[in-house]
Amino acid sequence: MVSVDQALCIGCGVCVDMCPEVFTLTAEGKAQAIKNDCENCSLEDVASACPVEAINI
Ligand code: SF4
Repeated sequence: MVSVDQALCIGCGVCVDMCPEVFTLTAEGKAQAIKNDCENCSLEDVASACPVEAINI
């Protein structure tokens, strides 16, 4: 289960840029996961790229 801690997310958009299949920005400017897996990228890499470690996989 992929989740974003919205209290930590600063809305930088890195995860959305890396994997728009899984991550989207809400109207509040926070990321959310809309899927649990991706065939095109490594979600571990996306989680590692988050500057505030808000992504849990
Ligand atoms: S990379 Fe992290 S801080 Fe940036 S939008 Fe995604 S979850 Fe939020």
